[in-house]
Amino acid sequence: MYKMMTPGPTQVREDVMAARSRVFPNPDLDEEFVEYYRDTCLLISELLHTKHEALILDGEGILGLEAACASITEPGDRVLVLDNGIYGAGFQDFVSMYGGKPVLYTQSYENPLDPEALGRYLEKDHDFKYATVVHCDTPSGMLNDISSICPLLKDYGILTVVDSVSGMFGEEVRVDDWKIDLLCGGSQKAVSAPPGLTFVTISEDAKRVMQERKTPIASFYANLKVFENYYEEKWFPYTMPASDIYGLRQALENIKADKDMLDRHARLARLTRETLQSMGLKLYPKRGYSNTVTTFVVPEGWTAAEILKRMKDEHNILLAGSFGPYAGKLIRIGHMGTNATPSDVQETLEALQAVLRNKKDMDRWKSTIVPMHT
Ligand SMILES: *Cc1c(COP(=O)(O)O)cnc(C)c1O
Repeated sequence: MYKMMTPGPTQVREDVMAARSRVFPNPDLDEEFVEYYRDTCLLISELLHTKHEALILDGEGILGLEAACASITEPGDRVLVLDNGIYGAGFQDFVSMYGGKPVLYTQSYENPLDPEALGRYLEKDHDFKYATVVHCDTPSGMLNDISSICPLLKDYGILTVVDSVSGMFGEEVRVDDWKIDLLCGGSQKAVSAPPGLTFVTISEDAKRVMQERKTPIASFYANLKVFENYYEEKWFPYTMPASDIYGLRQALENIKADKDMLDRHARLARLTRETLQSMGLKLYPKRGYSNTVTTFVVPEGWTAAEILKRMKDEHNILLAGSFGPYAGKLIRIGHMGTNATPSDVQETLEALQAVLRNKKDMDRWKSTIVPMHT
């Protein structure tokens, strides 16, 4: 198997794999499992710094985004879609699918959203039920400052749906301090469990909006309300994927025990950026670099496919290209979660240097790797 240095799925530790292979109970009939599910949700809330409820849904990250939008959108609702990346723009589909009217706030894809400019926009128009915000827009490696953006929106009474699937645990997230209403995460990014689960934190304001709906939520599987009172009634809306949740729990316990996690992500991300730049590579975006994924422009004389193939064939390391407007143009290194270890990042950077050096016109890039200070 190759070393997965992609921005999701990420490498999964042995203890997470072992937890997934444990004997599992009947999740519908075993009350102990309801306790276990709830304790796992409480752990998510704790790690994301919220006193509000979290729910784990049986589906990949996309389900969390769709469920958040489905649960609070009613036909005709105006929704502000903050768009400076592919996932940012993508939210408009979930909004319109459930009858909402997406209003796009489109900004440069090369820079993070500027809270001051957003503030000026909101002064003129703030009649939105909620806004969608992407924390780390993974295809470009763009990090948006949700600590400023979400409180600003809240000042206007606008709820926030935040996609931090690839941000959380590699970047700080403080749900309550930052007044985030619905925050979405997934199992396969910095959490470092296999793909298959999503989770959503739900503020009191978001719950109230769901309660006060005039129309029913046009979904069952993407409906957060179907979990209402699950704990009191010891009743799940559908059979919970017990093994996946065992694995998720272990991955979350690993995060809880790892006091250096955020600092390590910052150090390794910086090392990655500095090393790539010392090799003459151009980073993407211009600012707002995420500590979970680093993106660089495919250098002249190369194709993305060639670099990716040689990394895999010659060094057994899987990197990712990108998609949409970035297809063939950008390459991504995912240094998040279990990938964010000094040895794996160092090995990846050395392999990339070896690959790129190995072509005549790249001889001038005889840079040495930036020494580790981790
Ligand atoms: C990975 C990811 C998701 C989950 O969806 P995919 O099926 O992997 O596309 C959602 N949002 C972001 C920002 C992600 O990085």
